[in-house]
Amino acid sequence: MPEGDTVWRTARRLHEALAGRQLTRSDLRVPKLATTDLSGRTVLEVVPRGKHLLTRVEGGLTLHSHLRMDGAWKIYAPAERWRGGPGHQIRAVLATADRTAVGYRLPVLELLRTTDEGDAVGHLGPDLLGPDWDADEALRRLLADPARPLGEALLDQRNLAGIGNVFKCELCFLLRASPWLPIGRLPAPERATTLAKKLLEANKDRLARVTTPSARPDRRQWVYGRGGRPCFRCGTAIRTGEQGPATQERVTYWCPVCQPEDADTPSFPEPTG
Ligand SMILES: [Zn+2]
Repeated sequence: MPEGDTVWRTARRLHEALAGRQLTRSDLRVPKLATTDLSGRTVLEVVPRGKHLLTRVEGGLTLHSHLRMDGAWKIYAPAERWRGGPGHQIRAVLATADRTAVGYRLPVLELLRTTDEGDAVGHLGPDLLGPDWDADEALRRLLADPARPLGEALLDQRNLAGIGNVFKCELCFLLRASPWLPIGRLPAPERATTLAKKLLEANKDRLARVTTPSARPDRRQWVYGRGGRPCFRCGTAIRTGEQGPATQERVTYWCPVCQPEDADTPSFPEPTG
């Protein structure tokens, strides 16, 4: 599942490939945009907003896309073979004289007036990788519903934008709290926003997501994807369970010993990762 760091890198690659260049071809393969042609327009910039991508083009238009579960934008040279998936999964093609951007499996693709971008992304909380990151506002939103389970609150993009299921699970571990702990009972809750920012920043330039002090492939995550395997800290088998709405990836991983549901348990020292 693409998270804020993946979207941030995708935006940067798209920006490098398209910004300042005129589109020589546009092919938007969703019914509503079937007759829309952006060719001739210059791409101004591509910016990430949480897990959303905003491709701004000349004439006050923005192509809004979202990768959701397994969408991707790939960039190709003119003669290069497109390898991002079968043709029927292609939703968008944006080409300049020397680069072609192909959007695969995009569940959201719409054209907006740039001045109306707020309709698409205005609901988002402060963006962990955005220029407007505001830790105090993110914390205020997180704590607005103190009974909400920590994992759900972290994943809700209206609270803070950029956390997907991997970072959600890892953050709960680093906070030494069960994903089901009501967030209002989290000791020192400001650590949630501080750690989230630290994890996203540390991973925005890396392809392999690392939340531990180790870059070894089998040790890059504390709990995510490690169901039934021993916790690196205490050796207890990592548990899995479902959390959150059915429309999202719901499997949550946690260590029942390191992440107690009892908020009175003293917190562990700061992680080094
Ligand atoms: Zn443990």
